[in-house]
Amino acid sequence: FGPTLCIGEILVEIVANTAGSGFLEPQPLTGPYPSGAPAIFIDQCGRFGGSAAMIGSVGKDDFGRVNTDRLQRDGVDTSAIHVDPALPTGTAFVRYRDDGDRDFVYNMWTSAAGALDWTAEVEAVVARAGHLHIMGTLLVQQRIWQVIERAAGIIKSRGGSVSLDPNLRKELGADADTASRFAAVVSMADLLLPSGPELFVAAGTDASAGENAALASLFAGGAREIVLKRGAAGSTCFTAEGTRIDAPAFAVTELDPTGAGDCFGGAYVAARRLGFDMAQALTYGNAAGARNVTFRGPMEGAGTRAELDAFIAGKGRVA
Ligand code: ADP
Repeated sequence: FGPTLCIGEILVEIVANTAGSGFLEPQPLTGPYPSGAPAIFIDQCGRFGGSAAMIGSVGKDDFGRVNTDRLQRDGVDTSAIHVDPALPTGTAFVRYRDDGDRDFVYNMWTSAAGALDWTAEVEAVVARAGHLHIMGTLLVQQRIWQVIERAAGIIKSRGGSVSLDPNLRKELGADADTASRFAAVVSMADLLLPSGPELFVAAGTDASAGENAALASLFAGGAREIVLKRGAAGSTCFTAEGTRIDAPAFAVTELDPTGAGDCFGGAYVAARRLGFDMAQALTYGNAAGARNVTFRGPMEGAGTRAELDAFIAGKGRVA
């Protein structure tokens, strides 16, 4: 059975207090908040009560501590988080524009976040894991891809499962190998969690051919379960056997949208692996995503199972 494992970047996020364009003048900022899509996912997974472990790299500095302390507090096994003596922890400075778009200044792949190797600690945690969650964003990064590919091969060959959140980000760019890596992880994934147009990118079908054509292509390729995240419209789960379940979103006032999809995924995967059915897991996913956008900071609103139960019972009220 074994823990759910996530691999990838660990960052701190520092957010501009006011909306506007870019960072060209001095301005008040809030942070550091623990962040990085894989870290948000696994934090929500651990906080929900699922067995969870993280592979990543931080610097020997306070920004690294902010992350490892948070993950440990929320029950995540951090034994395979490498503390790099030479590089600082990754950072992302974020400013929202009035239209909801974001400007970023990243120090990601030239920081400890990009310096991931196959260590004895990584080997040990992969040997225990029962499930691997992959973030598509990471496929641009050769060094991290090597760890993901090797871990996925080991976990799949032992009968473990794989989920994929395409999590495509225009800011991160792509090298020539990214498309073939992306196709490789799509074909390995038992569960896919795309958001908006990512469904068509994952399926390799045209959006004009419709959602059903994309789903059919992914099921033909081996997927068992596909969950579409639809922002404030909630989520829908489809299975290879033809089941469809729709779950409405919770009505909340969005303060900071970062991390919604990662919290949704962390709660959904944790709930499924703990034996909840798809309808229950969708409700927990919607609750985790919605609760998280009511907090400033990318993982500040990740909820325990009790917090999510209270949120659901209160129809979206944060206790
Ligand atoms: P991503 O961050 O991957 O683009 P979404 O924006 O679709 O993903 O958010 C993931 C989930 O979080 C949604 O399916 C929904 O359940 C919840 N969610 C996100 N934003 C809101 C919102 N403004 N109101 C209510 N629920 C939300």
